[in-house]
Amino acid sequence: MNFNEVNLSNPILRALEELKFEKPSVIQEKTIPVVLEGKDVLGCAQTGSGKTAAFSLPILEKLSKEKSKNIRALILTPTRELAVQITQSIESYAKYLSLRIGTVYGGIDQKYQVDMLKKGVDILVATPGRLVDLWDQELISLCKVEMFVLDEADRMLDMGFLDSIKLIAKQLPVKRQNLLFSATMPKEIERFAMSMLKDPVSIKQARVTDTVSTISQSVYYIDEPNKLLLLVQLIKAGDVKNAIVFTNTKRSADKVMKHLHQAAVRVRAIHGDKAQRARQDALLQFKNGKIKVLVATDVAARGIDVAKLSHVFNFDIPESPDNYIHRIGRTGRAGETGTAINFCNIDDVDNLKAIERHIRKRMTVVESEWPMKILEKKEKPQGRRGSGQAGRNGKSAEWGKTTDAPRRDRAARKEKDPIDITKVKDVTPSGKPVVKKKYTPFKPSSKSESGKDKTDSRRDKKDGRRDFKKDSSYGKKKKAVTGKAKY
Ligand code: AMP
Repeated sequence: MNFNEVNLSNPILRALEELKFEKPSVIQEKTIPVVLEGKDVLGCAQTGSGKTAAFSLPILEKLSKEKSKNIRALILTPTRELAVQITQSIESYAKYLSLRIGTVYGGIDQKYQVDMLKKGVDILVATPGRLVDLWDQELISLCKVEMFVLDEADRMLDMGFLDSIKLIAKQLPVKRQNLLFSATMPKEIERFAMSMLKDPVSIKQARVTDTVSTISQSVYYIDEPNKLLLLVQLIKAGDVKNAIVFTNTKRSADKVMKHLHQAAVRVRAIHGDKAQRARQDALLQFKNGKIKVLVATDVAARGIDVAKLSHVFNFDIPESPDNYIHRIGRTGRAGETGTAINFCNIDDVDNLKAIERHIRKRMTVVESEWPMKILEKKEKPQGRRGSGQAGRNGKSAEWGKTTDAPRRDRAARKEKDPIDITKVKDVTPSGKPVVKKKYTPFKPSSKSESGKDKTDSRRDKKDGRRDFKKDSSYGKKKKAVTGKAKY
């Protein structure tokens, strides 16, 4: 199928031709005609599938038929980066149309956004926090919205945005067309979708986990202190053209960035403590090749689209398999091949196994010159992570899960199923028996490593979310190996 078979008018087709979009992607082929017919859509698709064009091309087509000064299409998306990226994409598709596209998101002064709204926009791309702020101040009217898009609904839920979304939805006219997209379909999203959508057409892309199979995935079993050495070695090797390095915390991101910078790698970091301008600037430099490596936390990097990204590194293994899929989905986009490299220390083994089960694939194990020697897991003090980190409504900092119950479950599982030598032998490549030698407790050397980082637990008030996960390696007793273990 070609784009001119899906009933798009010439100005849009011309823009697509210039962008070298030859054929619609699967999700576009399925979604565009349904949206043009005016039906609600429940779409299961992830970033990288072409879903931005899937919903925005028919919106442009429909809105271009009339002129108005009101917001007629509202697109809600979870992060600022994604809001900017979607806006840029829509602007490129609308190059030959006279529609106005605006963006509102937190982290920057609202003045420019208010001026833009006063002038009038047809399509508004927004993050929920800033939109609610503007609505609270009566600076925005949503009563003429004809088309409402909820993008990355599962992430919205994870980030605690559901209440804001419900509030926004109440301000919209009852008669409107709704499009909801989500990479996964947890029960809560399904329930919300059912309450919001009218007789929706359900559109599914191939299973989210299937797409992962196009990306080469490998794992290095490595101790925490050696991860930086390995990262520098791999990044300096020839085949890494550009890479996103994911960390679980802002502190870890800063540490990695500093280390790579010292190793003369062109690198920037993006996370919730960085000013919005610095985040955008870093992203731009990365996209246009001025820097080779972008170090990022999940929230800051969610959905960002970089053409031809050669590598994704999981410097820290994510706790959630879904998040793993989101992370590695940055590479291998639009049919390109990609490489995902994971660094797994002894504390991450359970999470890695959960990921492998989820994607139904064993990762290729690669051995570095620093093979794993620490074979004993750190003790996780009960209840620690629940205190001072819980987000709104007792949700955990980044994932929106209730803080205590899942953690207790995890702790109980680990007690029943402790990591032992046989298990580690299972996952190390050489296959020789592992001999545990003498262990001594690790004492953190600096105050900042052992102490609590107050900035980490600061909520990003504007977007009503937090952008971190507490680094489990800090402020806890570590065990380090002094003797040499054999594999
Ligand atoms: P998205 O899933 O919307 O973030 O899109 C992922 C990437 O695919 C973006 O870089 C788009 O510009 C690109 N893309 C979307 N649709 C097409 C298409 N039909 N042909 C080629 N590239 C596309």
